[in-house]
Amino acid sequence: MNEIRYVRASTPAQAVALASAEPDTAFVAGGTELTNLMRDGVQVPGLVVDVNRVAERGIEWQPGRVRIGALARMAEVARDTGVRHRLPVVSTALLASASGQVRNMASIGGNLLQRTRCWYYRDTALPCNARVPGSGCPALAGENRWHAIFGGSESCIRVHPSDLAVALTALDATVLTQGPGGARRLPIETLHRLPGDAPHRETVLEHGELVVAVEVPATAMAARSRYRKVRDRASFEFALVSVAVALELRGRTVRDVRIALGGVAPRPWRAREAEDVLRGERLTDAAVAAAGAVAVRGAVPREHNAFKLDLVSRTLAGVLGELGGGR
Ligand code: SF4
Repeated sequence: MNEIRYVRASTPAQAVALASAEPDTAFVAGGTELTNLMRDGVQVPGLVVDVNRVAERGIEWQPGRVRIGALARMAEVARDTGVRHRLPVVSTALLASASGQVRNMASIGGNLLQRTRCWYYRDTALPCNARVPGSGCPALAGENRWHAIFGGSESCIRVHPSDLAVALTALDATVLTQGPGGARRLPIETLHRLPGDAPHRETVLEHGELVVAVEVPATAMAARSRYRKVRDRASFEFALVSVAVALELRGRTVRDVRIALGGVAPRPWRAREAEDVLRGERLTDAAVAAAGAVAVRGAVPREHNAFKLDLVSRTLAGVLGELGGGR
């Protein structure tokens, strides 16, 4: 039996010092992810550092942006009036995540840092390069219906599971951290790593580095935004494909747009070429179709997930139609 020690930190500096002093530690806030990993034997830390008393929990509106504490619960953020009206892509993404019970407990920081849902990763009886480096990736030639069509490597083709991370990527949010080397501000798009030949590292965070808050620009485009998630069942399910869009129109012309895709890559996947196709164009069926085609350019589908290409294009068209009020 493994001994697991538990410490409740009282300051951010203490939490970072405790976690970084030992090689085998984990932070816990809501506990909805860590307890699953520990119960299944996927991650069994020697020391669990409780950060519920040290990280931020509030939702603070500032001129042109909002700062959301990493400890804010998903449900609190989803129902915040300002978030619903000024950042609807965030509230719709949160409400599409997990279940009501989980959203009441799970923290914003924990949601962004959840590990892949790849079923090989979660089953300790099977090899997986992300769990046991060098053991192999059975998904490459196995059941890869959920896996990546962008950004994978011959070591790993996982997808990142957070809906919120996709929404925040479409809004160019910033993740604020406190670590052994001090405070950092990370563009959300840089938080998650592509697997390359080191698939066991899913983020760029250093050992012992704590996410303390997220800053989100509250722009005109953010107020006209939406998240759509396609999944096998309507509740408590991860995305096969998801699309987050923020759109600014002048009349019927696209003044600016941000598009991020989920369920398709090891990190939220920004579709910049599709944005370029739309920017400055009238939001017509032809423009939307062109953006949908460009959004999947360069994809590398596997044996069981080529359906994601068409699903991305159709889902993007649906969200643009919703935000544009029909074409
Ligand atoms: Fe493991 Fe990644 Fe392969 Fe899944 S895709 S089995 S997480 S190495």
